[in-house]
Amino acid sequence: MTAPSRKVRKGGRQFEKDRKAFFLKCKAERAVCWLCGMPIDYEAPQNTSDDSYNLDHFYPVTKRPDLQHDPAGFRPSHTQCNNLRGNKDPATPIGALSRQWIRTA
Ligand SMILES: [Zn+2]
Repeated sequence: MTAPSRKVRKGGRQFEKDRKAFFLKCKAERAVCWLCGMPIDYEAPQNTSDDSYNLDHFYPVTKRPDLQHDPAGFRPSHTQCNNLRGNKDPATPIGALSRQWIRTA
């Protein structure tokens, strides 16, 4: 057994578990879209309609790919809102940023 040459990134199976757990938590709490503050249609399959649930990230993945798999940065959003946001920072995020919740690198 030799040491792996590639650095092991958090992700893969753990990420799938984390994002699924996050979805179920948001659904149970009827969490609203963090971008527009409106209810999300949790009955619709994910990413299938404008009002369906979409996993967004507090920090755009393009800017902070290292945080992509960090559950602390997960945010519930509408598929449409996430698409409209692109990788811009929201002007007025609905969910207030908590320093305890967001772990800064
Ligand atoms: Zn929205």
